[in-house]
Amino acid sequence: MPLFLIDIAFGVVMASVGVGAGIWLRGRTASRKAAMVPNDAEYAKEALASLHVLAHRVAAHVGEHNTRVEEINEELSSRDTEDPEAVIDAVNRLIDANDNMQRQLGDAEVKLEEQARLVESHAEQARTDALTGLANRRAFDDEMARRLSEFQRNNLPFALAMLDVDKFKNFNDTHGHQAGDEVLKGIADVLRKESRGMDLVARYGGEEMAIVLGAASLDEATASGERFCRAIEKARFQHGDTEMRVTASFGVAQVLDADDVEALIERADAAMYASKEGGRNCVHSHDGDAIRAFGAEEPSEVADLPAEVPVDEPQPPQALAEDLVKFSDSLNHRLAEYKRGGRAPSVLLVKIDDFSGIQSRYKPSNSRWQP
Ligand code: GH3
Ligand code: MG
Ligand code: MG
Repeated sequence: MPLFLIDIAFGVVMASVGVGAGIWLRGRTASRKAAMVPNDAEYAKEALASLHVLAHRVAAHVGEHNTRVEEINEELSSRDTEDPEAVIDAVNRLIDANDNMQRQLGDAEVKLEEQARLVESHAEQARTDALTGLANRRAFDDEMARRLSEFQRNNLPFALAMLDVDKFKNFNDTHGHQAGDEVLKGIADVLRKESRGMDLVARYGGEEMAIVLGAASLDEATASGERFCRAIEKARFQHGDTEMRVTASFGVAQVLDADDVEALIERADAAMYASKEGGRNCVHSHDGDAIRAFGAEEPSEVADLPAEVPVDEPQPPQALAEDLVKFSDSLNHRLAEYKRGGRAPSVLLVKIDDFSGIQSRYKPSNSRWQP
C-alpha cells in the first residue's frame, strides 16, 4: 500500500476521533445544561467539574493516540517504503492504536452516561414534591408559563383546576400529622389516576394541589374537576388499621386573552373559595365575569370580604358568631393567597364606644336581639 494512502487514512481516523470526541462531549454537556435547574448551582458546579476531568482525560487519550500515529508515520517515512513487511507492521500498530483509542473513548462514554443519569435524576428530584411524588411548585410555575406562551403564540387553550383539602387542620388534629401525610399521598394517587397524560398534577403548597389541563375548555375542565372531586370523596385512605376519608373543594378557570399566570391562578382560587363558601366538597368555575357551581346555570352569589352586616337590624349574637367564623375563614384564605404572592390583605378593626348604652337607647321594639 503506498505510504501516502496510509497517511491520509490515519490522518482521517485521528481527526475524526478527535473531532467526534469533542462534539460528543460538547453535545452531552449542552443537552444536560438544558435540563438543569437554575437553583442547583452547587450541584451544577460539581457535575461540571467531573465533566471537565473527563474531557481532559479524553483529550489526553486523543493526544497520546495522535503522538503514537505520528511516530509510526515517521518511522515508515524513514524506512524503505517498498518493504511490504514494514507496511504491514505499521498498519497493525496503527490498528492497535486505534483499538486502544476506541476502548478509552468507550470507557469515557460509560462514565459520561453515568454522570448524565445522575444529573437527570437530580434535575427530576428538584422538580418533584418529596411527599406526594407530584410535580412541585417550581415545575408547576414552569408548566403554567409554557402553556401561557403556547396559548399566546398558537391559541392553544388550557385550564387550571385548584383544590384545597377540606377541614384538613381538624383532620390532622384528630388523626395526627402522619395520617394527614398519608392522605395527601392518597389524593395525589387519585389525581394521577383520574387525569390525562397531557395534564400536569402538582402540589401547589400545603394541602393545595393544582391540575394544569391542556387543551381544555372551561366546561371540560369543570367536568374534570367534578370527576376529581367525586373520586376523592369516594377514596378511602389507609393509615395503620384506620381507614380515612376526606373531601376537597375545587376551583376551575380557563386561560383568557390578555391573561397572565397570576390572573388565571387568582380566578381559579376565587372559584375554589366559592366552593368552600358553598359548603365544600364541590366545584366552582370562574369564566372571567362570574363564578358558577358545577352544573348551575346561574352565577353563584359569592360574599365579599368582610361579610356584610345588615344595617337596618342589629345582628343577633348567633349571626354575629357565624360571621366571625366566615370572617376568620376569609382572612385565612386571603393570608394564604398573600403568602403565595397575591395582594396583601388589610384588616380594619372598629370599636363602637358605649355600645350597651346605644343598645338600650335605640333597640327596636320588634328586634330578635336579646342583649
Ligand atoms: P378549609 O376547609 O377551609 O380549607 O380548612 P383547613 O383546615 O383545611 O384550612 P387551613 O388552611 O386552616 O388548614 C390547612 C391545614 O393543612 C393546616 C396544616 O396543618 C395542614 N397541612 C398543610 N400541609 C400539610 C402536610 O404536608 N401534611 C399534613 N399532614 N398537613 C398539612
Ligand atoms: Mg389551604
Ligand atoms: Mg384546607
